[in-house]
Amino acid sequence: MSITHKSSSQQQRALEILIRLKRLYPVAPCTLNYKTPVQLLVATILSAQCTDERVNQVTPALFARFPDAIALANADIIELENLIRSTGFYRNKAKNIQGASRLILEKFGGEVPKRMELLLELPGVARKTANVVLSHAYGINQGVTVDTHVKRLSHRLGLTEHTDPIRIERDLMRILPHSEEWENWSIRLVYHGRAICKARNPECDACVLADLCPSANVSQSNSGQVSIVTVPLAIPEEPLPNPPR
Ligand code: SF4
Repeated sequence: MSITHKSSSQQQRALEILIRLKRLYPVAPCTLNYKTPVQLLVATILSAQCTDERVNQVTPALFARFPDAIALANADIIELENLIRSTGFYRNKAKNIQGASRLILEKFGGEVPKRMELLLELPGVARKTANVVLSHAYGINQGVTVDTHVKRLSHRLGLTEHTDPIRIERDLMRILPHSEEWENWSIRLVYHGRAICKARNPECDACVLADLCPSANVSQSNSGQVSIVTVPLAIPEEPLPNPPR
């Protein structure tokens, strides 16, 4: 099969996967609770190595005490740490949240920036967090959010052979047909990863993607994890596509 044919067949498969996931999860909002872009940024920073459920338990008290960038920038760091302690890595997260809030005030006029390259200047913000904030707070798709679920499912579905999130994102940006679908893709893969394609014991028999998935019902290791089937990709190594302005 030629490179072009492999690429286009992956695009067709990704499109069919997306159609089915949209049917299965017609409404798929962000599962972090927030009222403003700053609060979404903070919640997303807190979600690193932590479940959204746990973050949502912490943020009501946190946002009641420190609701915006001004309050967070001037917060007593020990108090801030104590409010977010149960999310893990709380010292680092508190430092990043305060640092990001100060930069938002000093450099961005109190508003979370709307461009990837500016968001990446904020402490504690990498592409995953930036993509979540851009898409859910502003409706801007500049990249594909790659969290642990997107990473696992994209592998199992044979859409990437990489383990590095940046490279996975680059593969997905090429395979997924339209940038406006990028977050539709990621959020639904997250939903499907939580409900069906779990890290351990994925429920392939109940999965609507089974006939499209090279990992469906493959043997499992002793740990219960599915052996990852790697599908050779025909995607040339190139820089990330320019985001839409
Ligand atoms: S068929 Fe199995 S491995 Fe493939 S996406 Fe569905 S649950 Fe995951």
